[in-house]
Amino acid sequence: MTISKKSSTVLGYPRIGLRRELKRALESYWDGAISAEQLHQTGRLLREQTWSRLRELGLDQLPGNTFSYYDHVLDAAMLFDLVPDKYRSEHELDSYFAMARGTSTLAPLPMTKWFDTNYHYIVPEIGPSSAFKLNAAKVIGEFREARELGLITRPVLLGPITLLLLSRAEAGSPPAFTPLDRLYALLAVYAELLALLQAEGVPWVQLDEPALVQDRSDRELDALAEAYTYLGGLTGRPQLMVASYFGELGAALPILARTPVEAIAVDLVRGSAHGLSETGKTIVAGVVSGRDVWRTDLPAAAALLQRLGPDVVVSTSCSLLHVPYSLDAESKLDPELRARLAFAEQKVAEVVQLASGTVEPVPAAQNTRPWIPRQAQRRSPYPARSAAQAEYLRLPPLPVTTIGSFPQTADLRATRADATAGRIDWPQYAKAIQAEIEKVIRLQEELGLDVLVHGEPERNDMVQYFAEHLDGFATTEHGWVQSYGSRCTRPPILHGDVSRVAPITVGWSRFAQSLTGKPVKGMLTGPVTIVAWSFKRPDVPVAESVWQVAEALRDEVADLEAAGISIIQVDEPALRELMPLRRRDQADYLAWAVEAYRHATSGASDRIQIHTHLCYSDAATIFAAIDGLDADVTTIESARSHGAVLLSPSASGFERGLGPGVYDIHSPRVPSEDEVAALIAAARRVVPAPRLWVNPDCGLKTRTYPQVQAALRNLVSAARQARDRMA
Ligand code: GLN
Ligand code: ZN
Repeated sequence: MTISKKSSTVLGYPRIGLRRELKRALESYWDGAISAEQLHQTGRLLREQTWSRLRELGLDQLPGNTFSYYDHVLDAAMLFDLVPDKYRSEHELDSYFAMARGTSTLAPLPMTKWFDTNYHYIVPEIGPSSAFKLNAAKVIGEFREARELGLITRPVLLGPITLLLLSRAEAGSPPAFTPLDRLYALLAVYAELLALLQAEGVPWVQLDEPALVQDRSDRELDALAEAYTYLGGLTGRPQLMVASYFGELGAALPILARTPVEAIAVDLVRGSAHGLSETGKTIVAGVVSGRDVWRTDLPAAAALLQRLGPDVVVSTSCSLLHVPYSLDAESKLDPELRARLAFAEQKVAEVVQLASGTVEPVPAAQNTRPWIPRQAQRRSPYPARSAAQAEYLRLPPLPVTTIGSFPQTADLRATRADATAGRIDWPQYAKAIQAEIEKVIRLQEELGLDVLVHGEPERNDMVQYFAEHLDGFATTEHGWVQSYGSRCTRPPILHGDVSRVAPITVGWSRFAQSLTGKPVKGMLTGPVTIVAWSFKRPDVPVAESVWQVAEALRDEVADLEAAGISIIQVDEPALRELMPLRRRDQADYLAWAVEAYRHATSGASDRIQIHTHLCYSDAATIFAAIDGLDADVTTIESARSHGAVLLSPSASGFERGLGPGVYDIHSPRVPSEDEVAALIAAARRVVPAPRLWVNPDCGLKTRTYPQVQAALRNLVSAARQARDRMA
């Protein structure tokens, strides 16, 4: 069989730097330690390294403008001058970082998750009279930079439909206004940009439209048709590639096919090839996954490419932003596992190999344990448990608690680093952690909290910690992936069947409980969150892995109970994140996710109080699922929205314990006692006192001790004030 050589590309690439150089440069710049020029120097170097490396690996078409100092959606806002007036300052970089991070006087623009990934973008604001103005310096500058290196790049831009759909209406806009109303004003500026790029000699532009893989209304689909009919109809423009990813185009595909764009990029890892050959467009075939760390089944991918016909460019399913740079940086991975892995560089090599038509088979994945569903109900329904818990725990009304972590001090980080590097041994490490736990317990007793926590000083991260203690997960040394701005995480790699080798948290919890007469909450991360924030297995459905983690946690819950822990919190902050992008898949997901959570927690006796914590502001949209978790108490983020979540109609039907956060821990601000009292009073109108808890929005680990002490003191006094008035 002769296979013709195809062209190769990727939709985007990591930008934080192989050694997180951008993170360091950004943080130094924010601290005033380096100049803007030095920051730009780092940026240039990183872009140059990326392009040269991609060329070295043999990639034909290089993406450009994939670099960002913070976020590519914020870059798109800057490109069209969508800068709310209050953020404007003399230097563009200052406006940019003010929007991203706020200033001493301004809150930043909101930040939210990029589709179903753990990457966060900055939400632009568009109003009825926003003036779109082209500011193409970054796009053109980066194109020229590459050209000076002898390389022609394809600028990657956020497409107009996705930009409008991800933006929110500026405050004060008429209620019926949506950013999509401004389509034509925005398209005029895209047209201006395309003309400029054409004059610059840009052959191709990539317009990213991931919003098209979600359910879209007729009006939105019409907007899509209008946008690309208009842009495609311009004379004197570069060729246009519309890139979709994270799912299948569905109804958007035939619409795009009828517009005069030249190429459509599709995600063939999550979507099918159905209908692609009939589009008459160049298909940029995303056959190498940008969302996982596994080697591609190359023979299968080659066969798929073959079926798509001759006019195909081989590509990744999405930007490689979501995977670490290179396996070469890892020295400790088990060789058998390593042979199955591919990070960004290895994936580029696969794309190139597929384009050249030479493929090698991949080692087979592991077999899986059979899934035996078990009983996933607590022994008694909530009312009976609630009575048993009241009797056993004897808590005051409006009990005050925290979400788990206490500030992670520099000392604590140094202790963990010393232990990892072997500079201190286990007994020394354990002593340091116990000292920290004791400090946190004493502080909470002194402040007068009712339900204490041990503070999580032993955890680097709420997922990585569990992954390190469970079989079936591997962790990396340098596998950093950008989460937002300069923040990166190292997602664990879930590669096989999960099992618990030994109790994980029980020793620390037992120690903490031994120090006090008040209940200390056991603290676990839930099965959905552990899997959501890891790279998933290629060979079994996600539901299977989540169930296996639930099984391991069920044993941990039993051991905590046996160790005398009376309240156990199982956090599920990622419950919303794993939600499928298409509505038709969502009910099924929620059903198995909720079932897995119940499997993890339902072994506990009635008198053991199970708490859960979810920390995004749109809990309102999944209240029914939260109810299904059957936790006795749920704490949610609420302070930033001033309790808006409680106003949702589903909140009033919620009959279990609820702790709407009354302290916004994402801000350094300390709420006053009156402010907290007002939030408690508002919450009591929706949740009667016997079920209402008083707590912060989320864990305290990013705050300082002075802030936390002052804020918790106000929480306790506000709760006491309210109690006194009840008596
Ligand atoms: N228990 C965790 C903490 O307090 C919860 C963190 C989270 O919700 N993301 O840090
Ligand atoms: Zn949280």
